Amino acid sequence: VSSLAGSVAIVTGAARGLGEAYARALHATGAKVVIADILEDLGGSLAQELGERAQFAYLDVTDEQAWDQLVEDTIAEWGRLDVLVNNAGIANAAPIEHFTRAKWDAVLGVNLTGTFLGGRAVVPAMKQAGHGAIINISSVEGLRGSARLHGYTAAKFGVSGLTKSLAVELGAAGIRVNSVHPGFIHTEMTPRIDPAVLPIPLGRGGVPDDVAEAVVFLASDASRYITGAELVIDGGMTV
Ligand code: NAD
Repeated sequence: VSSLAGSVAIVTGAARGLGEAYARALHATGAKVVIADILEDLGGSLAQELGERAQFAYLDVTDEQAWDQLVEDTIAEWGRLDVLVNNAGIANAAPIEHFTRAKWDAVLGVNLTGTFLGGRAVVPAMKQAGHGAIINISSVEGLRGSARLHGYTAAKFGVSGLTKSLAVELGAAGIRVNSVHPGFIHTEMTPRIDPAVLPIPLGRGGVPDDVAEAVVFLASDASRYITGAELVIDGGMTV
């Protein structure tokens, strides 16, 4: 059984929701975890709760310089960097006539540009080490069209495209890049959606822990021959 003991992982958007579950699960398997988020209070108290193998770092994923600093600080502190989970995301919705440029820029900026910047920032260290796992969080909305979610859908499809190109480009360097596509998961992002109206074959909405072990799997050697894949975790919602 593969273990992440001794590995170092950065998880963005890890102060709450799905990212928090990923950080907890990676930490539970023995990894050192950097909880990177703009929510200092929540992220800081999670790091404190997890203890010595966890650290909070303030990071706005759209900030290029902050990414370089975070990678530098992580390697200075823990000597290596094995895993990046690009999880930070925002969602917004409006009919196309009311979908402002500001909404578009915001949702593309965090979900897609943030994922690009994160991947770019960690690759030099992973190349030098000859291994690494990058897990990009897309969505079922990165697999199909959905009314009113134009920017979110475009961004999440973009995350899949970015993932596949990076998988091809970085495979020979020992770096695997995969995308995860959660369905309806109860978090701060989804309070206005009633899962009862969604046809979900497994009969319920998900919780963050339903997704977390899949992220651990993609981060670990258990998935050593998987790259460029789209792992859908949606209770069958898109089947
Ligand atoms: P959430 O809103 O609870 O958590 C998102 C986290 O990202 C927050 O901690 C937030 O502070 C952080 N964040 C936002 N902007 C940031 C920025 N610029 N820099 C750094 N951190 C930032 O949402 P969630 O449901 O946990 O979503 C996590 C990821 O999963 C997102 O990428 C989302 O698109 C994706 N997702 C969620 C669902 C769902 O049903 N909840 C389904 C599919 C995909």
